[in-house]
Amino acid sequence: MAVSELDPNQSLDAYWMPFSHNRYFKQDAAHRSNRMLAKAEGSYYWTTEGNRLYDALSGLWCCGLGHRHPRLVEAVKRQLDVLDYATAFQMGTPAVFHLAERIAEQAPAGFEHVFFCNSGSEAVDTALKMALAYHRARGEAHRTRFIGREKGYHGVGFGGISVGGMVANRKMFAAGMLQGVDHLPHTHNLKEMAFSRGEPQWGLHLVEELERLVALHDASTIAAVIVEPMQGSAGVIVPPAGYLKRLREICSKHGILLIFDEVITAFGRMGKPFAAQHYGVSPDLITFAKGVNNGLVPMGGVLATRNMYDTFMAGPAHLVEFFHGYTYSGHALAVAAAHATLDVLADEQIYPRVESLAGVLEECVHSLKGEANIVDIRNCQLAAAVELAPLDGKPGLRALRVFEEALKRGVLFRFTGDIIAMGPTFISSPDELAQMTDVLRQSIHAAG
Ligand code: PMP
Repeated sequence: MAVSELDPNQSLDAYWMPFSHNRYFKQDAAHRSNRMLAKAEGSYYWTTEGNRLYDALSGLWCCGLGHRHPRLVEAVKRQLDVLDYATAFQMGTPAVFHLAERIAEQAPAGFEHVFFCNSGSEAVDTALKMALAYHRARGEAHRTRFIGREKGYHGVGFGGISVGGMVANRKMFAAGMLQGVDHLPHTHNLKEMAFSRGEPQWGLHLVEELERLVALHDASTIAAVIVEPMQGSAGVIVPPAGYLKRLREICSKHGILLIFDEVITAFGRMGKPFAAQHYGVSPDLITFAKGVNNGLVPMGGVLATRNMYDTFMAGPAHLVEFFHGYTYSGHALAVAAAHATLDVLADEQIYPRVESLAGVLEECVHSLKGEANIVDIRNCQLAAAVELAPLDGKPGLRALRVFEEALKRGVLFRFTGDIIAMGPTFISSPDELAQMTDVLRQSIHAAG
């Protein structure tokens, strides 16, 4: 396959890479030679040197249908011939109204409204603001506290890092945090639940910490609890059996809104449109992004219940009901890609396919149990993680080595700390999952 060339004289200095070790990447051509992407198709990338890489994380959890799906590409090209950008405020397009309706139809019962934005981070900020404004509209403006969870990831807006619980993402910006945020304890405990398949049987008791926080602050001060149904970015930390159901019960008892951040889990990864359906637990707000249009054009959104929407609509009729929105909310190209994505999800029967691939992935990753230096293996539908013991006492070093060894062997994994994460494309074959697992095994051996 033809690939675009890397000009050897191209300076790498100007581009400040996101969530990346810039100096390491830029200092040594040997490190980056395999890390310049030029082309993608289906479950594979090609580097500028022409090496093929199996994309073990579907982009960053967003390209489940594979790269450059012909129907998505076609839909965006067709849209470009008609309308590029449609001004978003006080105006709309038929396609964006229709898209909201289609998304709401797939959501758990009661979710009837969709607010669009452009990323997961924006979706989280939107949901937090909706929660505050909702309570205010109902005469409960004193409900201002948020409760997140340790190891939670909710993007990089100030709202998201405040309710998020990944220490590295927070500590550089401590002074800018939202006030009045608490965190539930995480449920990641290698002593108690290492090598669980699917939902761990240990850890349900930790949800009762919410009662402690409610007693401490008084329910009347708490606006919402926000959690990822499955903690993806922290390394596929799966909720203990019964955890989300109990969380729902406690929130309902105290009039606290429950927000599911489904930026990773929505639109395929869980074998259902939403993790809420997989777990049989219905929150009050759902954020989504990534999978909604397969990462083709940035898009995110928030699903709200009829009750929430009606509360806003009950205000003075001449006023904007929710003073919030983005220039690119419901961008015409993103909307076109999302319609095509929903078509493909249905026509290619992706949800049942993911359900069956999930069993294959579970068998594959747990076959690594017993290999040296693996301290945990976790899986949740079409997501999995292998946690490694740190090398020479340096956190993250072993996973970095494994990542590089895997690149040499044609697989692109994501690593975070000492965790190797996998979120294969929905179109992967069982053979590809087996090969990915073999490469991981070899790479762990080679990393020493
Ligand atoms: N929430 C969750 C649960 C996520 O996984 C992510 C991204 N991985 C985000 C929010 C932020 O999304 P974005 O990077 O599109 O802002």
